[in-house]
This record gives sequence, structure tokens and C-alpha cells, in this order.
Amino acid sequence: MKQSELRKLPSVDKLLQVDAIAHLVEQHGRGLTLDALRATLDAARQAILSGQPAPEVETLTADVARRLATDARPSLYPVINATGVIIHTNLGRAPLSERTRQAMAQVSVGYSNLEYDMEAGARGSRYVHAAELLRRLTGAEDALVVNNNASAVLLTLTALARDREVLISRSQLVEIGGGFRIPDVMRQSGARLVEVGTTNRTYVRDYSHALHPVNTALILRVHHSNFSITGFVHEPRLADLVALGDQYAVPVMDDLGSGTLLDTEPYGLAHEPTIQESVAAGISVVTASGDKLLGGPQAGLIMGKADLIAKLRRHPLARAVRVDKTTLAGLQATLLAYLEGKATEEIPVWRMIATPVEALARRARKWQRALKETGVPTAVVAAESTVGGGSLPGQTLPTRALALEVPSPDALAARLRAADPPVVTRIEDDRLLLDPRTVLPEQDGALVEVMRATLAKG
Ligand SMILES: *Cc1c(COP(=O)(O)O)cnc(C)c1O
Repeated sequence: MKQSELRKLPSVDKLLQVDAIAHLVEQHGRGLTLDALRATLDAARQAILSGQPAPEVETLTADVARRLATDARPSLYPVINATGVIIHTNLGRAPLSERTRQAMAQVSVGYSNLEYDMEAGARGSRYVHAAELLRRLTGAEDALVVNNNASAVLLTLTALARDREVLISRSQLVEIGGGFRIPDVMRQSGARLVEVGTTNRTYVRDYSHALHPVNTALILRVHHSNFSITGFVHEPRLADLVALGDQYAVPVMDDLGSGTLLDTEPYGLAHEPTIQESVAAGISVVTASGDKLLGGPQAGLIMGKADLIAKLRRHPLARAVRVDKTTLAGLQATLLAYLEGKATEEIPVWRMIATPVEALARRARKWQRALKETGVPTAVVAAESTVGGGSLPGQTLPTRALALEVPSPDALAARLRAADPPVVTRIEDDRLLLDPRTVLPEQDGALVEVMRATLAKG
């Protein structure tokens, strides 16, 4: 019985002659299609051996097409972020502005003057791009852009403090996430970590006691990023650390993490230290991410004193962590929006932060009306969005979310993650929430459609 069913299975060659399969070969190429064919036939053989009849050719063909659709789909694809976490590390951090996307596309289509001095008609430097904009925006003497902020910190510590000592407060030996831990990066750079102060309180005198005029290469301040310490706490002001550094000619480095150029306070958030403040305090080197609060492409921004930046630029590690042309083009476009005073209109991260709660309520109600026909009970509820990205821990922005009351919110969330386009949501008080703050306005139509289709199936 099983043997006769097995014999009914067509050969690979036979299947290749089926019109629908020939069409798949045309679409996806012979290699991928053959892989899918073999996998389909293997699965059919297993099914027969477990007692099922041989499938029809149409069933086999449909299975091949399904496998190919999965195989040919890139593993990285866009999703709709309805979580309300603006700089969502797992969802690709900052969405990019129209101007930024255009700049990145333009420079990648053809050739560019990446390392070509157009005036001289000779070799130029990629490091000039974006540097002038960063100087103007932050007041720093010079700037260098690298792959990300982790590499900015590694490069700076390696170039300025290898085989020497770096002073850091015990309250700042942080883990950022993704395994980026300050003590580990320090070890990797070859710098020796010298902990000063205590977990909760560190004073300038703790640094000055530990400071050695020859061995100390750097005083490092690290932004706490993803946690806050409260209660009986103290950390010195940057200006006081700078004064101490100046006294002994020891540079002071500030790893800001989520470097911001704009003040967060007008939006009801706590004050996030700005890059300009660190530069104005006299910090020698400031490092920050391009894709956190700055709202641009992934990059590491290093700003500071001209002689130190020159040293970093010359270091062999700089080549290993350099940025590509699309990043530089995108970063320039993002920075230009700040220079023109258009950041809160143009840059998605800032537009999301700045969206008033009434506007969010309107969108949530619009979604609610559009989903009425599904019969699923919904309510527009007060909720909290967060900034994320290792900035402003514990700080929230009031929002209005659409809450769906379904028997199993977890199951619905899973089905939405598997939808096309996928939607990532959050669950609170046994309800599935959709926060309009992080859904791009141009995604509203797609979101409603996916919700309708998914709810109709359930
Ligand atoms: C996020 C962060 C980093 C790492 O930056 P990436 O751009 O993710 O490499 C380093 N330091 C601090 C303080 C951070 O918040």
C-alpha cells in the first residue's frame, strides 16, 4: 500500500515540466526551486510513510510555491511598530526621515565624491563629510564618524588610553545591552580600568585621589542610559571633572550614548544631556549614537578637541570601524534638518516625541471606527509611550492607545506578528494595545487592513 502510494509521487524531472513549476524556476531561479522541490517531495514521502495517500500534483506545486515564498523572502523586512517604544532597539531603532532616505538612495545609485577632492581632482578624505555639520551643531573643534557608538568608545579608549589608566565612577560601570559592558570594552581596548567612588556617590576628590600624573590617560564619564539611580546619590558636574583634568592635562571623555541635539524638557520629559552641553563644559571627547535620539542612521559620532580627533582618525582601528557612503549621506541629511531648525517636523523620532496626545487620540479613534465591522470590542484608553534606546529610563509620554479585548491577546499578538506587513504590539491588563505614537502616519492604511484581515480570520 505504502509502496504503491510512494510510486505515485512524480520525479523531480516530471515536476519541472509542470507549467506552474517552470514559472517558479523563471521567477526564483533553478537552484532555489530545486531545493524547494526536493523538500516538498521529502515531506510528501514522510507523509505517505505515516499512512497518508500520495498528494495530487496541484498540492505538491502549491507546497513548492509556499516554500519558495519563504525561502526567497529576506530574513530582514519592515514591520509596523505599534508598541509605543519610539527608539525600539529590537525593531531597528530610529526610522529615517524622507530627506535622509533620499540622500542615502542618491549616493548609492551611482558614484560619489566619497574620497575624492572635486576641486583638486585628486584623492580626498571620507572624513570631511558630516564633520563640518557636527562642528557647527555642537561647537566641537572637530568630529569623526564611525560605525556605531560602541566602536566610537572602543576606538577612543584604544587610541588614547592603551596600556594606561582610565578613571571611571563605580556608578557608571554599566551594561548597555547586547553585551556591551564598559569594563569589557575597557579590557578590549587595552586600557586599565580604575574604579573610583562608590555605587551611589562619587565626588571629584575620588577622581583626584586616584589620578596619577603619568599613568592616567583619561577620565571617563558614561551616561547611565538604561537605568537611573535615585536616593542618596552624587556624581560630579562635568565642568568640575574638566577642571580637574585641565589641572593635570588629562583629557575627559563623555560617552553620552543617546546623544541628543535637542532639549527633551519641552515635551514633559526629564532633561537628557545634550552633546552641546558636554562640548560647552570643555569635554575633550564626546561620543554618541547616530540612531538613538539623534534620529539618523546607525553611526558613532565622536566630537572633541582637534588634536585628539586627529589622533583617532590616524589610528589603524579607525579603518576597521569606518562608515560607508550611505551612512554618511544619511547622517548629513539628518544633521541638516537640525541646522535648518526642522528636526521636530522632519525627523520621525522627534515627530513622535512631539505629537500631542489629542492627535494620538484622533488616530486611535479613527482605527477604532475602521475596526468596528469586525465586531471585536475596542476602547481608546490612556496609556504610556516610552522613548527607549537607552535614554530617559523610567520616563513616559502620555498617549492614547486602541485596546482590543479578545479572549487571547497573546494569540492575537502572535498572529499579527505573522501577518503581512507584520505588526508588533504590546499587551497590558490582558488587552492588546496599539499605540499610534510609533505607527508612522503613512502606515495607518496598512495597519487597519492587516487588523481587519487578522481579526476576520480569528
Ligand atoms: C547605546 C550606548 C552605547 C552603544 O552605542 P551603539 O550605537 O549601540 O553602538 C554606548 N554607550 C552608551 C552610554 C550607550 O547608551
